[in-house]
Amino acid sequence: MDQEKIGKFIASCRKEQGFTQVRLAEQLGITDRAVSKWENGRSLPDSSIMLELCALLNINVNELLSGERLDMDNYRNMAEENLVALRKQEEAANRRMLSLEVVIGYTSSVSFLALVFTASWVEMSSWLRAVLILTGFALLNIGGYHCLKLEREVGYYECPNCGARYIPEMKAVFLAPHIGRKRKMKCPYCGKRSYHRKTLTK
Ligand SMILES: [Zn+2]
Repeated sequence: MDQEKIGKFIASCRKEQGFTQVRLAEQLGITDRAVSKWENGRSLPDSSIMLELCALLNINVNELLSGERLDMDNYRNMAEENLVALRKQEEAANRRMLSLEVVIGYTSSVSFLALVFTASWVEMSSWLRAVLILTGFALLNIGGYHCLKLEREVGYYECPNCGARYIPEMKAVFLAPHIGRKRKMKCPYCGKRSYHRKTLTK
Protein backbone atom coordinates (compact mmCIF):
# COMPACT_ATOMS: atom_id res chain seq x y z
CA MET A 1 0.00 0.00 0.00
CA ASP A 2 1.27 3.40 -1.00
CA GLN A 3 0.55 5.71 1.96
CA GLU A 4 1.53 8.85 0.08
CA LYS A 5 -0.79 8.06 -2.82
CA ILE A 6 -3.62 7.21 -0.39
CA GLY A 7 -3.02 10.50 1.42
CA LYS A 8 -3.26 12.58 -1.78
CA PHE A 9 -6.40 10.68 -2.77
CA ILE A 10 -8.04 11.35 0.62
CA ALA A 11 -7.20 15.06 0.27
CA SER A 12 -8.67 15.30 -3.22
CA CYS A 13 -11.85 13.38 -2.29
CA ARG A 14 -12.25 15.53 0.81
CA LYS A 15 -12.08 18.72 -1.28
CA GLU A 16 -14.49 17.24 -3.84
CA GLN A 17 -16.99 16.69 -1.04
CA GLY A 18 -16.47 20.23 0.21
CA PHE A 19 -14.97 19.33 3.60
CA THR A 20 -12.14 21.14 5.36
CA GLN A 21 -9.76 18.92 7.38
CA VAL A 22 -11.38 20.23 10.57
CA ARG A 23 -14.92 19.55 9.34
CA LEU A 24 -14.04 16.01 8.22
CA ALA A 25 -12.32 15.32 11.56
CA GLU A 26 -15.41 16.55 13.43
CA GLN A 27 -17.65 14.25 11.43
CA LEU A 28 -15.44 11.30 12.37
CA GLY A 29 -14.94 12.32 15.98
CA ILE A 30 -11.14 12.51 15.63
CA THR A 31 -8.58 15.34 15.61
CA ASP A 32 -7.75 17.31 12.45
CA ARG A 33 -4.12 16.41 13.16
CA ALA A 34 -5.02 12.80 12.36
CA VAL A 35 -6.57 13.84 9.04
CA SER A 36 -3.52 15.91 8.21
CA LYS A 37 -1.26 12.93 8.99
CA TRP A 38 -3.20 10.72 6.55
CA GLU A 39 -3.06 13.34 3.85
CA ASN A 40 0.70 13.78 4.29
CA GLY A 41 1.13 10.02 3.93
CA ARG A 42 2.40 9.59 7.49
CA SER A 43 -0.34 7.25 8.68
CA LEU A 44 -3.35 5.28 7.50
CA PRO A 45 -6.90 5.71 8.80
CA ASP A 46 -7.69 3.24 11.56
CA SER A 47 -9.72 0.30 10.31
CA SER A 48 -12.43 1.13 12.87
CA ILE A 49 -13.33 4.38 11.08
CA MET A 50 -12.52 3.38 7.49
CA LEU A 51 -16.13 2.63 6.56
CA GLU A 52 -17.40 5.91 7.96
CA LEU A 53 -14.61 7.84 6.24
CA CYS A 54 -15.34 6.17 2.90
CA ALA A 55 -19.04 6.97 3.22
CA LEU A 56 -18.20 10.65 3.82
CA LEU A 57 -15.77 10.73 0.90
CA ASN A 58 -18.18 8.85 -1.33
CA ILE A 59 -15.67 6.11 -2.18
CA ASN A 60 -15.33 2.45 -1.12
CA VAL A 61 -12.68 0.92 1.13
CA ASN A 62 -10.98 -0.69 -1.81
CA GLU A 63 -10.56 2.63 -3.57
CA LEU A 64 -9.32 4.21 -0.35
CA LEU A 65 -6.62 1.56 0.08
CA SER A 66 -5.66 1.73 -3.60
CA GLY A 67 -5.49 5.53 -3.51
CA GLU A 68 -7.55 5.89 -6.70
CA ARG A 69 -10.99 5.39 -8.17
CA LEU A 70 -11.36 1.90 -9.62
CA ASP A 71 -13.39 0.66 -12.54
CA MET A 72 -14.93 -2.82 -12.45
CA ASP A 73 -12.00 -4.41 -14.34
CA ASN A 74 -9.21 -3.74 -11.92
CA TYR A 75 -11.56 -3.72 -8.94
CA ARG A 76 -11.21 -7.43 -8.17
CA ASN A 77 -7.43 -7.44 -8.52
CA MET A 78 -6.98 -4.52 -6.20
CA ALA A 79 -9.44 -6.02 -3.72
CA GLU A 80 -7.28 -9.10 -3.35
CA GLU A 81 -4.03 -7.16 -3.16
CA ASN A 82 -5.44 -4.87 -0.50
CA LEU A 83 -6.74 -7.74 1.58
CA VAL A 84 -3.32 -9.38 1.57
CA ALA A 85 -1.66 -6.09 2.54
CA LEU A 86 -4.14 -5.47 5.38
CA ARG A 87 -3.63 -8.98 6.69
CA LYS A 88 0.15 -8.50 6.66
CA GLN A 89 -0.27 -5.27 8.61
CA GLU A 90 -2.47 -6.97 11.19
CA GLU A 91 0.01 -9.80 11.52
CA ALA A 92 2.97 -7.44 12.05
CA ALA A 93 1.05 -5.41 14.65
CA ASN A 94 0.06 -8.58 16.49
CA ARG A 95 3.60 -9.89 16.44
CA ARG A 96 4.78 -6.67 18.08
CA MET A 97 2.11 -7.01 20.79
CA LEU A 98 3.17 -10.58 21.57
CA SER A 99 6.81 -9.46 21.92
CA LEU A 100 5.55 -6.88 24.39
CA GLU A 101 3.90 -9.71 26.33
CA VAL A 102 7.27 -11.49 26.60
CA VAL A 103 8.96 -8.29 27.82
CA ILE A 104 6.29 -7.66 30.46
CA GLY A 105 6.42 -11.31 31.55
CA TYR A 106 10.19 -11.33 31.99
CA THR A 107 10.34 -7.92 33.65
CA SER A 108 7.73 -8.77 36.26
CA SER A 109 9.23 -12.23 36.96
CA VAL A 110 12.75 -10.86 37.32
CA SER A 111 11.55 -8.02 39.60
CA PHE A 112 9.67 -10.55 41.71
CA LEU A 113 12.71 -12.80 42.08
CA ALA A 114 15.02 -9.86 42.82
CA LEU A 115 12.71 -8.51 45.55
CA VAL A 116 12.18 -11.89 47.19
CA PHE A 117 15.88 -12.69 46.96
CA THR A 118 16.77 -9.35 48.58
CA ALA A 119 14.17 -9.85 51.31
CA SER A 120 15.57 -13.31 52.08
CA TRP A 121 19.28 -12.57 52.11
CA VAL A 122 19.81 -8.98 53.12
CA GLU A 123 19.73 -7.86 56.77
CA MET A 124 16.64 -5.68 57.33
CA SER A 125 13.74 -5.13 59.64
CA SER A 126 10.90 -7.59 59.29
CA TRP A 127 8.36 -4.97 58.17
CA LEU A 128 10.65 -3.93 55.30
CA ARG A 129 11.05 -7.60 54.42
CA ALA A 130 7.25 -7.95 54.32
CA VAL A 131 6.89 -4.83 52.14
CA LEU A 132 9.46 -6.16 49.64
CA ILE A 133 7.81 -9.55 49.39
CA LEU A 134 4.33 -8.06 49.02
CA THR A 135 5.57 -5.65 46.34
CA GLY A 136 7.15 -8.62 44.54
CA PHE A 137 3.87 -10.53 44.53
CA ALA A 138 1.95 -7.43 43.44
CA LEU A 139 4.32 -6.88 40.49
CA LEU A 140 4.06 -10.54 39.53
CA ASN A 141 0.27 -10.36 39.57
CA ILE A 142 0.04 -7.11 37.64
CA GLY A 143 2.54 -8.40 35.05
CA GLY A 144 0.77 -11.74 34.76
CA TYR A 145 -2.60 -10.07 34.33
CA HIS A 146 -1.36 -7.78 31.55
CA CYS A 147 0.37 -10.68 29.77
CA LEU A 148 -2.83 -12.67 29.83
CA LYS A 149 -4.89 -9.71 28.67
CA LEU A 150 -2.51 -9.04 25.78
CA GLU A 151 -2.41 -12.68 24.80
CA ARG A 152 -6.21 -12.89 24.73
CA GLU A 153 -6.70 -9.73 22.68
CA VAL A 154 -3.94 -10.25 20.12
CA GLY A 155 -4.86 -12.47 17.17
CA TYR A 156 -7.08 -15.52 17.63
CA TYR A 157 -7.12 -19.03 19.04
CA GLU A 158 -7.66 -21.85 16.57
CA CYS A 159 -9.60 -25.04 17.36
CA PRO A 160 -7.76 -28.05 15.87
CA ASN A 161 -11.03 -29.96 15.63
CA CYS A 162 -13.28 -27.64 13.60
CA GLY A 163 -10.72 -24.98 12.57
CA ALA A 164 -12.71 -22.10 14.07
CA ARG A 165 -10.66 -19.01 14.97
CA TYR A 166 -12.00 -16.94 17.84
CA ILE A 167 -11.21 -14.66 20.81
CA PRO A 168 -12.04 -16.47 24.07
CA GLU A 169 -13.37 -14.99 27.30
CA MET A 170 -10.73 -13.70 29.73
CA LYS A 171 -11.90 -16.30 32.26
CA ALA A 172 -11.39 -19.17 29.80
CA VAL A 173 -7.83 -18.01 29.07
CA PHE A 174 -7.08 -17.50 32.77
CA LEU A 175 -8.23 -20.99 33.79
CA ALA A 176 -6.76 -22.85 30.82
CA PRO A 177 -3.72 -25.10 31.28
CA HIS A 178 -1.13 -24.10 28.70
CA ILE A 179 2.07 -25.13 26.96
CA GLY A 180 3.71 -21.92 25.73
CA ARG A 181 0.85 -20.07 24.06
CA LYS A 182 -1.18 -23.22 23.32
CA ARG A 183 -4.12 -23.30 25.70
CA LYS A 184 -6.43 -26.16 26.57
CA MET A 185 -9.91 -24.71 26.16
CA LYS A 186 -13.41 -25.69 25.14
CA CYS A 187 -14.20 -24.60 21.57
CA PRO A 188 -17.25 -22.28 21.53
CA TYR A 189 -18.19 -23.66 18.11
CA CYS A 190 -17.83 -27.44 18.26
CA GLY A 191 -17.64 -27.76 22.07
CA LYS A 192 -14.61 -30.03 21.98
CA ARG A 193 -11.88 -29.52 24.61
CA SER A 194 -8.36 -29.51 23.22
CA TYR A 195 -5.16 -27.47 22.93
CA HIS A 196 -5.89 -24.35 20.87
CA ARG A 197 -3.08 -22.73 18.95
CA LYS A 198 -2.54 -18.95 18.80
CA THR A 199 -2.80 -17.49 15.29
CA LEU A 200 -2.07 -13.90 14.31
CA THR A 201 -4.75 -13.45 11.64
CA LYS A 202 -8.30 -14.64 11.13
ZN1 LIG B 1 -14.03 -26.38 17.40
